[in-house]
Amino acid sequence: MKNIWQHILQQSRQWCDRPSFWETVPFVVMGLLALTLMVKGCQGICYHGTAEYRIHRLGYPIDQARAIAGVLSAEQAHSLISRGEHDTIAYPIIKQRYFIAKNFDHYLAFHKVDSVASLDDIVTVVNVGDYPDEQKTATHCDTSKGQLMLVNGMHYLDEKYQPDSLEAFERTCCYENQQAIPAVVRAFVAMQRDCKTSTGAQLMVNSAYRSFQDQIAIYKRSDKGYAAHAGRSEHQTGLAIDVTSLQHPMRWPFDASVECAWMHEHCHEYGFILRYPKKQSQLLGYNYEPWHLRYVGVPTSTRIHNEGITFDEYYAYYIDREKQ
Ligand SMILES: [Zn+2]
Repeated sequence: MKNIWQHILQQSRQWCDRPSFWETVPFVVMGLLALTLMVKGCQGICYHGTAEYRIHRLGYPIDQARAIAGVLSAEQAHSLISRGEHDTIAYPIIKQRYFIAKNFDHYLAFHKVDSVASLDDIVTVVNVGDYPDEQKTATHCDTSKGQLMLVNGMHYLDEKYQPDSLEAFERTCCYENQQAIPAVVRAFVAMQRDCKTSTGAQLMVNSAYRSFQDQIAIYKRSDKGYAAHAGRSEHQTGLAIDVTSLQHPMRWPFDASVECAWMHEHCHEYGFILRYPKKQSQLLGYNYEPWHLRYVGVPTSTRIHNEGITFDEYYAYYIDREKQ
C-alpha cells in the first residue's frame, strides 16, 4: 500500500517538474471558462424556446406562465401561443377546483361568448358538456362503469339495455309493483326504516326500473321537461327511484314535507344522491326533481354530498377526466 502512494507521489512530481505542464495551465483554465459560457448560452437559447418563456412573452408574469405551461399539453400551449394574445382568464381558470386540462380551450372560448359567467360556472358547464359545439354528438353510455354509469341527454342507453339483475320491492315500499337492482332495494329499505324512526313518515317508491318501451309511453304522457326521452332516462339502469311518502303521495306536496327534507339530508348515507338538485338546475338546464334519487354507492354519494356537486360534474372530473 505504502509503495503505491510513493509511486503516485513520484509520478506527480515528475509531471509538475516538466516545464510544459505550467505552460498548459492558462489554456486549460480558458478552455473551462469557454465551456461554461457555452453551456450557459445553450441553456438561454433552449429556455427561450420553451412554452413557459413564450407564454410569458404574451404578457403573463413568469410564475403564471410556468403554471399554465405546466398543465397544458404541448399542442394546447402551442395553440395559446399562436393566438398571440394575453387572455385574462387563462391563469385563474387553471386554478379552479374542477379544472380539467383537456377542456382549457373550451373554457376560454366559452368565456369569449359569455363574459359575465363566473369561472366556477364556466368550468361546470364546460365539464359536463353543456355548451354549444357543432362537433358534439350524443354517445353511448359507458355501461362498463356499472353503478357509476352516466345517462343523460348526451349519453344514452340503447333499446336492448337491461340491468343484470332486478329485484322487486316489498309491497310496504311501493304503491304498485316496482323493481330495481338488488343493492338499490336494500339501500331503500334501510333509508325507509330510518326515516320512519326520525320523522314518523313512510317513504315509498313511486317509480323505479323502467324499460326503454316503458319510457316511450311515459315521455308521451308527461309534462314537458319532467321525463327524459327513451334511452336518456336513468330509470332504465335500475339505479334510479322516484320517492314520495304515504303521508304525501303526490310529488309536489312531498317536496315541502319533513320526510323529503330528511331524505335530502341523509340519502347519501345509504348510497343515494339527489340527481337533479335545485342549486345547479338553471345552470345545467334541467328541472329540479326533489323526488328522483340515483344510487351510486356510499363512497361516491358521500363525496358528491360533501362537495356539493351534481353527478354530471362528478363523472366529468373523477371518472372521465383523463379521456381525450
Ligand atoms: Zn325519476
